Amino acid sequence: MPQPFDRTWKLTAAAAAGLLLGALLGWLAGDLATGLAVAGVVETVLLLSLIRHETRHMMPQTPPISPLQHDRFMTRSRRIASSLRDLRSAAGSLPDAVVLLDNEQHVRWFNHAAEDLLGLRRPQDRGAILEERLGTTELAGWLRDGAHEPLNDVVAPGHPNRHINVTLLPFGRRQRLLLARDISHLTRLEQIRRDFVANVSHELRTPLTVIHGYLELIDPEDIPELAPVIGEMRAQSKRMGQIVEDLLTLSRLETQDHVTDERVPMTPLLATIRKEAEALSQGRHHIAVESTADADLLGSPKDLHSALSNLVSNAVRYTPTGGSIVIRWRRTPEGAAYSVTDTGFGIPATHLARLTERFYRVSSSRSRDSGGTGLGLSIVKHVLNLHQARLDIQSETGKGSTFTCLFGHERLLKPGTDEV
Ligand code: ADP
Repeated sequence: MPQPFDRTWKLTAAAAAGLLLGALLGWLAGDLATGLAVAGVVETVLLLSLIRHETRHMMPQTPPISPLQHDRFMTRSRRIASSLRDLRSAAGSLPDAVVLLDNEQHVRWFNHAAEDLLGLRRPQDRGAILEERLGTTELAGWLRDGAHEPLNDVVAPGHPNRHINVTLLPFGRRQRLLLARDISHLTRLEQIRRDFVANVSHELRTPLTVIHGYLELIDPEDIPELAPVIGEMRAQSKRMGQIVEDLLTLSRLETQDHVTDERVPMTPLLATIRKEAEALSQGRHHIAVESTADADLLGSPKDLHSALSNLVSNAVRYTPTGGSIVIRWRRTPEGAAYSVTDTGFGIPATHLARLTERFYRVSSSRSRDSGGTGLGLSIVKHVLNLHQARLDIQSETGKGSTFTCLFGHERLLKPGTDEV
């Protein structure tokens, strides 16, 4: 028979466990405010379950207790009930949508933000299967596919003008907690940033072309004392022009959500890339092509050429004289892989995760000296994303690097036919 004293401890322990579990889930979700609110929700659920369990035994069987014990018990119960109300209303008024799913994935509880962002309605959606309730939205598809990774930047099912990030966190016995955060203001800021970069680049393009044109007109032989200065000015204006072009390419790729699906014949493309690499290398490297995939690509010829040749140009620029570069096009179980392996400087492991960020360089001076803009790999990543492909980078300092573009079966065509 549980004594009131035991119960108090159990309730306290449940509250503490709820707080800890919630804080952990919140921490996994990424911020303290969510952590505390989630702690409230989880704590509420644990406490309510415990109280229900306790009172079930208590009602018929509790022996008479003294008036003093009764008063104490009632005071504690009121305090707990009031804490529960506070926690519930705190979780209820969170700006993030919170949906608690039971072990059969039915909606058990949700807050006001979930009504607004996900379009859930009270009381009819209590007990509904969330996936079915969300119909054919991207969010429903994500839940159906297991929701293994967080889902970023999708349209909120309850609000077509808002964008959300969604995470699904497991807890307890197969229960799950869905958290959705309104990121519309971030999306707007991101749009402003994109427009700004695109506009600035566009505005810089014309004056740079004019400066570059005039510099080309000056013959250094007419003013030999200024010849080195003119050479440097030409090189720098060319570099600025290249940065502007790369920024404009990135802006275009960022605003696109799909590419034209054209056949990209790989045999001629590999031959062109090889020629470009040889021109850049000027005989300083051994360059080889191994093509065994017997497949063409489906996508944007211009963007794919730019991405695939960018990797080769990096290999040439970051491999000392005498090194070798191998370009491979081969089949893989998931589709096909285009890879560029060099015996160059290599990249320390700590830099690998950030290489595709704009202007991220392992060594600024080496990049500048080799004529880099710091935007090449960022462009490669965007082009691959638009082709549902991904970039894998393996590298060892002092030994060399392999950059691999992995394409799925849906992006492959048999040369000369429409078959995959
Ligand atoms: P950049 O124009 O500077 O080459 P990228 O975006 O193409 O810019 O590459 C980013 C950085 O990644 C480079 O500055 C360089 O430090 C590193 N990097 C890229 N490719 C290679 C490579 N094949 N070997 C060694 N380092 C590389």
